[in-house]
Amino acid sequence: MNWLFFLLILGFANTEPYPSATWGFHSHKMINRLAVFTLPPTMVSFYKYHIHEITQGAVRADQRRYAINEEAPRHYIDLDYYGPGVPEHWAEAQELFPSDSMQAHGILPWHLRFIKFKLTKAMVSQDAAAVISLSADAGHYIADAHVPLHTTSNYNGQKSGQHGIHGFWETRIPELFWDSFDLWVGKARYRNNYYCDLWDVLWSSYNGVDSVLKIEKRLSMAFPPDSKFGYEQRNKQVVKVYSRRFSRAYHRQLNRQVEHKVRAAIKFVGDFWYTCWIDAGQPNLHQLTKPLQAIELDKMDEYWQYGHVSRDSTTLK
Ligand SMILES: [Zn+2]
Repeated sequence: MNWLFFLLILGFANTEPYPSATWGFHSHKMINRLAVFTLPPTMVSFYKYHIHEITQGAVRADQRRYAINEEAPRHYIDLDYYGPGVPEHWAEAQELFPSDSMQAHGILPWHLRFIKFKLTKAMVSQDAAAVISLSADAGHYIADAHVPLHTTSNYNGQKSGQHGIHGFWETRIPELFWDSFDLWVGKARYRNNYYCDLWDVLWSSYNGVDSVLKIEKRLSMAFPPDSKFGYEQRNKQVVKVYSRRFSRAYHRQLNRQVEHKVRAAIKFVGDFWYTCWIDAGQPNLHQLTKPLQAIELDKMDEYWQYGHVSRDSTTLK
């Protein structure tokens, strides 16, 4: 989600927002960028060399939503729809849920598993353009998995009279408090079962939904409407935003949940890249630490635009 979209939500609070709004561009970029510095020396030279693409590429998955229909469901999973017995494996889930329902209610973990497979393969084959774009995409989906509102069908408070809470949590709070976040996560480590960990992340996000909504509701009742929102200048325009006071109270009462989720996302992204590299047999990335050739740049443009799944494909295979 970008600022303009966030402001539009606030400005037209009764308008149905875009169905899969996602972490603010700034957060996505910073999560990918900071994850690079968790990598071991054997990987970090390659990732640092391409850090610009990996950082800017952090938001390509969101931009792609406008180009291909299959993109949107990759960014969320409505766990309230799937329920606690949801199968972790794609084939089993497909047997239980109709395909159109899965597209409507999100396929984040299953798609990320596919990305894991592709990234590991790209490392084995020393395909630099694919490694860069898949690493950036993986960072995006992992970050989304850490956002509580990406795990519920009430993703923007539309079912509880809290329109705009999505942008409040993922854009306004980071915008105001990012500089106070402690984002030190240490070194990347190998995850024996990253996929199980991913499901734990999703359920932990889902368990956070209750407080995300309840605390906003409680504070809204305590704050008179004229102090819940304020007005700030953006590009010579005065726009309505959640007030600083309201935002501070929310951030505090939520026990800095947004900060904890950002930190956990950075850690998971670094671990994910590292785990792919180990599973690929620790290929030598040093020899890929050089400018991409024209043909690779073209390939990467195509990846950014259409992702790593055929644009006509409706399945993950
Ligand atoms: Zn997203």
